[in-house]
Amino acid sequence: MVPDTREGIKKALSFPAQENREGLIEVLKDQEGLLMPPIVLNPTTKLPTSQGESQGVNTALVDKFFPGSDYSPAVKLKNGNPANACPDGSNYLESIAKGYTKCGGWVVLGECANGHQFAKEIFCGYEWCPVCGKKESKVHKRRIARWLPKAMQIAEMGYWVITVPPEKRGLLRNVGELRRFRRSIVRSLKRRGYARGLSRYHYFGKKHPGIFHPHLNILVEAGFLSKAELGDMKKLFSDLLNYPVEAHYSYTRNPKMMLHWVKYVTCATFLTYKWDSEMADRLYHFNNTHCWGNWKKRPVWQVDEKEEASATIISFLEENVCPWCKTKIKWKGGRCGVKPIEDVFYMGYMHIGEGYWALAPPLDEWGNLPEI
Ligand SMILES: [Zn+2]
Ligand SMILES: [Zn+2]
Repeated sequence: MVPDTREGIKKALSFPAQENREGLIEVLKDQEGLLMPPIVLNPTTKLPTSQGESQGVNTALVDKFFPGSDYSPAVKLKNGNPANACPDGSNYLESIAKGYTKCGGWVVLGECANGHQFAKEIFCGYEWCPVCGKKESKVHKRRIARWLPKAMQIAEMGYWVITVPPEKRGLLRNVGELRRFRRSIVRSLKRRGYARGLSRYHYFGKKHPGIFHPHLNILVEAGFLSKAELGDMKKLFSDLLNYPVEAHYSYTRNPKMMLHWVKYVTCATFLTYKWDSEMADRLYHFNNTHCWGNWKKRPVWQVDEKEEASATIISFLEENVCPWCKTKIKWKGGRCGVKPIEDVFYMGYMHIGEGYWALAPPLDEWGNLPEI
């Protein structure tokens, strides 16, 4: 079923002027539909040029709904491009890090080999970002979406939490060691026949926020392990690393629990930059999310149907693959490709979830949406 967005848009347009963009975006989110027919609101809106200037956008109308805020396309267009709004000329991500720009509100446009059009809201993605680090933020949900289709292939899930004793934590303040630690643990698991798994560090524990306490979370395909087997794994971990490790293990066959673990492991724990600014700077280029093995099997459990469909579409988009025809999406990034999110709204793009927008999804001969 294709939800009708016209009602929502009518609602959005009847907003009083002081209810700005946030309200409009909320209304769009309320639609909850995965795909909606594109509606071009304003016939004077022309597609932007490849130079990134949104020519032809009715800025007077846009300003009416997003009056004078930082989000106002009129303000943005005056500056030409978000990067130029930055007093020291730093780029978009730097400008977020330095606090000149609030994270979100900008998109890059993309197109697959068959001409299907997408827009992707861009985020800094830092755990300590007030926008990205929030539980269930778009960035968090994108991470969940990347893991969910894999996790759903696991019938019985084992969950390892692996760390070092407190006096050894200093070792893991080094990004090289964080990589070596993960590599050694994964190698040990592979040796014991764990052909695939998902891993991600949490840098702080819930009990002592602000105290650096790195621990590696790993989800694998496994069930009950005897005391002897657990001891054997722990010994293997320590032998490869040359220092003692602390390991905790649990397992489940309950899909609700597995879903909970996926959401929990992908959440942010480094919630405040000032907790450990030195470590935050070191983690600048560290790729925290990691998986190994082959994930081409069929799902063996299900979550809520809507959540699953949405995660599937988002997981394709996260890998830069068109969810409709499976060809590669090319994002027109760079300074010229960045646009205010309102532009895609006025160009008739519809929100398909977690900051991804699509223009005119292809319908079959009966007018139904394509199977994913
Ligand atoms: Zn951010
Ligand atoms: Zn396509």
